[in-house]
Amino acid sequence: MELDKLRVNGRRLQASLEAMAEIGATPGGGVHRLALSDEDKGARDLFVSWLAGMDLEIVVDEMGNIFGERPGDKVLPPVMTGSHIDSQPKGGRFDGILGVMGGLEVLRTLSENDIETKRPVVVVNWTNEEGSRFSPPMVGSGVWSGELDINWVFDRTDINGKKLGEELERIGYKGSAAARSRPVHAYYEYHVEQGPVLECEGKIIGVPKGIFSIHWSDVYLDGTANQVGPTPMEGRNDALCSAAEMILKVNKLPSKMGDNMVATVGEIQNYPNSRNVIPDHVHFTVDIRSWDDDLVSRAWDDLRNDFKVIASRRGCDIRLEETWKVNHMPFDERLVNGVLKTADQLGYSNHFMVSGAGHDASYMAMTAPTAMIFVPSIGGRSHVEVENTTWEDCEAGANVLLHAVLKSAMEG
Ligand SMILES: [Zn+2]
Repeated sequence: MELDKLRVNGRRLQASLEAMAEIGATPGGGVHRLALSDEDKGARDLFVSWLAGMDLEIVVDEMGNIFGERPGDKVLPPVMTGSHIDSQPKGGRFDGILGVMGGLEVLRTLSENDIETKRPVVVVNWTNEEGSRFSPPMVGSGVWSGELDINWVFDRTDINGKKLGEELERIGYKGSAAARSRPVHAYYEYHVEQGPVLECEGKIIGVPKGIFSIHWSDVYLDGTANQVGPTPMEGRNDALCSAAEMILKVNKLPSKMGDNMVATVGEIQNYPNSRNVIPDHVHFTVDIRSWDDDLVSRAWDDLRNDFKVIASRRGCDIRLEETWKVNHMPFDERLVNGVLKTADQLGYSNHFMVSGAGHDASYMAMTAPTAMIFVPSIGGRSHVEVENTTWEDCEAGANVLLHAVLKSAMEG
């Protein structure tokens, strides 16, 4: 078979995605497959059974990252591709899993056509990309790339106090291989765009130059609880009102800093959360993103000062915690240009862009030449049950992935 005529099997890719969408399916058409939950285990089991059916070398490392390796005809650093199986609470059917099933489809296509590559090709599922049940996100690739300490990661707890390391053991995916990077010739991650750009541009394939800098922080406010009726408005120390003012500061931050930024409060807990008690304790999260690392730092400094002023004016104690930060991560120019060229050669319209969402590719880019492939999210929606991408676009992206992987895997 002529290599440039090779294509993935779009129907088989659709069937794999549909089978995965049943695991943790929600009534609204999405999936609820939190990291290291029973649903995550179910989807991992299915993925591993498919790998086992293909005669690949399967490795599960101590972080629960799953690798399926198809040997090359030489002993050389492999080409790697993959993403994540876990989802947001009531998340979508494509975020993450498309990149794992896309990688699997690439391996299936190579195998059924008896294609011998010079380099091994590896498909990977990274543990806890979402960071929703256990914060921070992307810990599987973070530990593997040497950026995060494994014992610190094992100690992260969910809202019920369960530890990540214990949950990994409970679902049977704490493997014996060391979670340590090895030389990788090229890493490709295939993902839905999760934004509106491709749809607006009318393009099928998105090729990001890299990923935004992301800064996460947690804000804890303490005021004074009291009966709402007899307590006059004057002199209250209302933690929720302090938070309300602060949240609007976050929302206005991008226009204040020059708009090359997005900033969001996505999670809030209010205590005691009773209609007739003045709230005395509030926790909320802040997420700031931009291509410009320095702008993110300056924005956080600015916000911190505003928060302190608001808290003191309202008589509340404030504690600020910087939870997580990654600098913006440019991808490998040679690989990025290769993906753009591949999309052209296959006749798919394409668009050079930037990724506002974080991905395991952020950490991978620290250890290996890395590039990503995006396909459109209908209505630009993601991390929600209605997240959707057409099957044609899923197939198109997988074909770009196939030829990008193939090109790198044939390099001596
Ligand atoms: Zn994702």
